[in-house]
This record gives sequence, structure tokens and C-alpha cells, in this order.
Amino acid sequence: MSIKEKKTKQLGMNPGTAANRLRKSILFSFAQKLGYAWCYQCATEIKDIDRFTIEHKEPWLDSENPPEFFFDLDNIAFSHAECNYGAARAKYGMPCPSVTAYRKGCRCDGCKEARREYRKKRKQLKGREDGKQKETKPNTEGEKPC
Ligand SMILES: [Zn+2]
Ligand SMILES: [Zn+2]
Repeated sequence: MSIKEKKTKQLGMNPGTAANRLRKSILFSFAQKLGYAWCYQCATEIKDIDRFTIEHKEPWLDSENPPEFFFDLDNIAFSHAECNYGAARAKYGMPCPSVTAYRKGCRCDGCKEARREYRKKRKQLKGREDGKQKETKPNTEGEKPC
């Protein structure tokens, strides 16, 4: 039996699939700890790993320099699967009024309002994460003392 067959048999799945799942799970857990697990498209928290996707703010496909856009960390954000694919399908992001439309240059009242809300929610999500870290310091929800 080859090592790959052995791994596949013991994991019950393709080792490549397993490694990808592990990487995603590590990424999601770090994003949650650091307060980055919120959606770039709708600015709500991403709570479910199955809906957690990596998003390219500027689409890399058909861009001037696809490898650069693909790997540029400044071009990376996270989003819900359905928000990510919804925006990709519309090609120019979510329809107006939305934060995405604002980023694309729309300055109608609806889009300005959406952006204000987005920034506010983003702050709340990050702020809450910071607060949580401080209050969990004195071992309140860790393992029980003996
Ligand atoms: Zn979303
Ligand atoms: Zn608009």
C-alpha cells in the first residue's frame, strides 16, 4: 500500500482534501480570534466555517495582472460564501445601494448610508473582540480549576 493510499484509508478521505480543510479551519479560527471574521460584503459576522470564504476585493480574473491581484494580501478579505458568489455573479459587486456599489464609485444616499452602517458594524465587531479578549484574561471560561 502506498503512503497516499494508507493516509486516504486512515483519514477516510483524500489527504489533499484533508490538508485543505485543516488550513481553512486554522484560518477561520485565527480570523475569529483576531476579529477578522466578518463579511467584506455585508459587514456581519461570519459564524459558520462552511460559509467562510476568501474574497478578492478587486477580482483577479481578467485583471491587468492576475497573479499579482490573486496573491496580494491587501486585496484579500473574507466574506460569506453567498455574499462572495452573489457579488461575483453581478460582476460589479452587490447592486446599489450597497457598500460594494459605494466602493465602485456610487455616492447616492443609499450607498453612503450603507457605507456608514458598514463602518459602524465593522468597528463594533472588532471592538467587541478586543473587549472579549480582555475580559477572558482572568480565566473565566477556560478549564475549571481543580
Ligand atoms: Zn455577508
Ligand atoms: Zn448607489
